[in-house]
Amino acid sequence: MAVDQELLEILACPLCKEEVKLVPLSEGRRTAVRDKYREKFRGEEPLVEQGLRCIKCHRIYPIVSDIPVMLVDEAFDEA
Ligand SMILES: [Zn+2]
Repeated sequence: MAVDQELLEILACPLCKEEVKLVPLSEGRRTAVRDKYREKFRGEEPLVEQGLRCIKCHRIYPIVSDIPVMLVDEAFDEA
């Protein structure tokens, strides 16, 4: 699983418009995000390993099956 490097460079926190950095998610967080997205993936198990942390506000946006979810409502404070 890998998010394209060029894509990473153009992604920004929707609130701060600041850079985001890849961070690994904890086992508990991975499970929580997988459970939340399973329905939307229609039976396909969502892959959740990393998130993107804003360098300014430190919100973490999940990456679900290689798709960065850059939505404030989907962000969390701790990996
Ligand atoms: Zn931010």
